[in-house]
Amino acid sequence: MKISIIGTGYVGLVTGACLAEQGHQVQCVDISADRVASLNRAESPIFEAGLEDLLRRHVGRSLSATTDLDAAVSSSEVTFIAVGTPFNGHEIDLTAVLTATRQIGAALKRKTGYHVVVVKSTVVPGTTDERVLPELESASGKTAGVDFGVGMNPEFLSEGEAVNDSLFPDRIVLGGIDERTIDLLERLYEPFEADVPRLRVNTRTAEMIKYASNSLLATLVSFSNELANLGAALGGIDTVEVMRGVQLSQYFRGQTKGGLPPITSFLNAGCGFGGSCLPKDVSALIVHGRRAGSSMSLLESVIRINQAQPRKTVELLTKHWPSLEGVRVAILGLSFKPETSDVRESPAFPIMRELLTKGAVLTAYDPVARHEAEKAFPDPAVTYCDTLDAAIANIDAVIVVTPWKEFRDVPARLIGRQVVFVDGRRHFDKHLVAQYEGIGL
Ligand code: NAD
Repeated sequence: MKISIIGTGYVGLVTGACLAEQGHQVQCVDISADRVASLNRAESPIFEAGLEDLLRRHVGRSLSATTDLDAAVSSSEVTFIAVGTPFNGHEIDLTAVLTATRQIGAALKRKTGYHVVVVKSTVVPGTTDERVLPELESASGKTAGVDFGVGMNPEFLSEGEAVNDSLFPDRIVLGGIDERTIDLLERLYEPFEADVPRLRVNTRTAEMIKYASNSLLATLVSFSNELANLGAALGGIDTVEVMRGVQLSQYFRGQTKGGLPPITSFLNAGCGFGGSCLPKDVSALIVHGRRAGSSMSLLESVIRINQAQPRKTVELLTKHWPSLEGVRVAILGLSFKPETSDVRESPAFPIMRELLTKGAVLTAYDPVARHEAEKAFPDPAVTYCDTLDAAIANIDAVIVVTPWKEFRDVPARLIGRQVVFVDGRRHFDKHLVAQYEGIGL
């Protein structure tokens, strides 16, 4: 495939070299004439292991560099935008992305034939759809989805390992405005290892995957530092030993059936965590830290976010009914997780409290925790049911709080009924019910 890449920094250059290695014809474009000249001499302007080997192999054959963006776009089928997106102290600075976009658009105006423009730079969700696409349309006078495609393909390479990461990616995220764009990206990445997971998503999701990945890593570092600072304030604790004790958990070392470490099951959005340990232990550590003069702001946020999730879950219903007065809702699952009768700190209770405040009429069911729940939340306004059938017999909505196996066929039982299905754990296939709602959708 003929590819042009705008921006020849860490991402653009490494991507270009690796795409050339995979058999594509690549032109790298940069505004820096020095950078372009050095590249055309097969000299890398940055140090990355293996990069100069790739340049020596491909420069002058399938890889070249130029300052002429227009010519590079005109003679290629796909253009990647890989320019910088710094944070300017207030917000993401899209100046370079939008300048490059306008230049690409101007080149497309003169070009005949279908072309795909792919954002590889890290951009905040919505940028590709709301900023890049309109800019391309206005500069080219053409229509996205008809005359050209727009994609978003975030980069996950890490400096120092860039060539290896790029040649052997752990995942390939293929974002696009339509199937045609994503299909083309799929073909472009065909030469890469067949078993690398490829995710076909819309552009906003692609953008978000990149930020979610980086934010998680940043959060883990700050989490470790918050605990390290607490350990130092308390005295007699070595955080290296603490983190070693955490890292040895089967959550990090084990493997699920899907081949992923079990910790990944915690990367699931929903109505919040409960149970006999997480809420009380995190809360106790926050207070202990405060007393030791150590701020626990990250863990405080953890609790605050968790306390808000039940309300967020109920808000999914207010999308359908501005007032929940008299709306009949079945709460399915009352234990804090499946396979236990423990209802301590179950998110089912704040959800039921919120619904009752709003005037909803509740039935509730749990395969094993029904009686524990009735004792913990003995509100006469809630009808606790002995069977799933009874709970969902006459309802307008259902909220699955705990994904017990018995609830697997609830979506099938709702077919043909006007019932809003709220998946409190994002456990079900969203296509199985007509009126599906879930956190983070
Ligand atoms: P960089 O600053 O190293 O390179 C950007 C290049 O773009 C520069 O050489 C600059 O001269 C060129 N440029 C700017 N405007 C141009 C234009 N209109 N036409 C042609 N060239 C132009 O940036 P980078 O580190 O490669 O990062 C690029 C993007 O990739 C950023 O959004 C970044 O967040 C993201 N990213 C970076 C890394 C990383 O490790 N560096 C990893 C993943 C994603």
